[in-house]
Amino acid sequence: MASKVAVVTGANKGIGLAIVKGLCKAGYSGDVLLTARSEALGKEAVELVKTEGFKNVVFHRLDICDQSSCLALGKFLKEKYGGLDVLINNAGIAYKGNATEPFGEQAEVTMRTNFWGTLWVCQALFPLLRPNARVVNVSSFVSKRSLAKCSPELQAKLRRTDMSEEELCTLMGEFVTAAQSGTHEAQGWPNTAYGTTKIGVTVLSRIQARVLNETRPRDGILLNACCPGWVRTDMAGPNASKSPEEGAETPVYLALLPAEAKEPHGQLVWDKEVQEW
Ligand code: NDP
Repeated sequence: MASKVAVVTGANKGIGLAIVKGLCKAGYSGDVLLTARSEALGKEAVELVKTEGFKNVVFHRLDICDQSSCLALGKFLKEKYGGLDVLINNAGIAYKGNATEPFGEQAEVTMRTNFWGTLWVCQALFPLLRPNARVVNVSSFVSKRSLAKCSPELQAKLRRTDMSEEELCTLMGEFVTAAQSGTHEAQGWPNTAYGTTKIGVTVLSRIQARVLNETRPRDGILLNACCPGWVRTDMAGPNASKSPEEGAETPVYLALLPAEAKEPHGQLVWDKEVQEW
């Protein structure tokens, strides 16, 4: 039987690196692919994890914003492992509060990584998901807070249980176009680029889970969005309340849901608890 494999994106530092270690500490019985867009930073992180005694960690380059990089990882997984058992979409970016780039630029760049990048990884790797695979999309509690700031019409749309991936992509594109012309608030969007991209990640997860139910009803695959909490990383800074290890707990829990588990699926989860959307 082909050996099991887990993929973590954006894993050279922060929560992603803690997730890799968390999987190893939990005794993950396969290889853990620590992926990063920088080969040097990724390899350095692998060496660090190995010095802690975890030998089953392997580096593979992945820039989630580059579709050919996503497809190359898929090819490697297919050839080396014949499939994929765990996918944790952790990579993400956020501009700092004092960033001087125009809002439209922040919206476009943040959307490209957090939403489109995550979607491209999924499109490249989902065909490889084996029965009982687990997919975790690292979103944020900010997605829920930002949803509450959308107009009632947008909120209703974003809570629909029958939205298609194409409709969501159109909506995310509309947000960026509106942000570039300064009309996003007039069109019912909240004044946050990061928050809106994470709305996209949470809604995408709900859609992906539903599509898996329709297309692979007997395969036992569970897919969820999660929030790691407010975590001390380069993104959130030193004053955040959780350590990276604590931030990794919910993603690792969702990645290792036992084979017989039927839920959660298609949910937004934080502190290991399902949140209302
Ligand atoms: P960090 O900034 O510490 O780490 C982000 C990681 O994502 C880095 O490894 C970074 O690589 C990588 N990354 C960014 N763009 C790409 C790309 N195009 N391809 C591949 N990797 C990329 O942030 P955190 O660890 O805090 O964040 C991890 C996730 O958790 C994010 O999705 C974030 O939105 C989410 N989150 C974080 C919270 C927090 O409080 N920290 C709260 C809620 C959610 P590089 O080093 O090359 O830049």
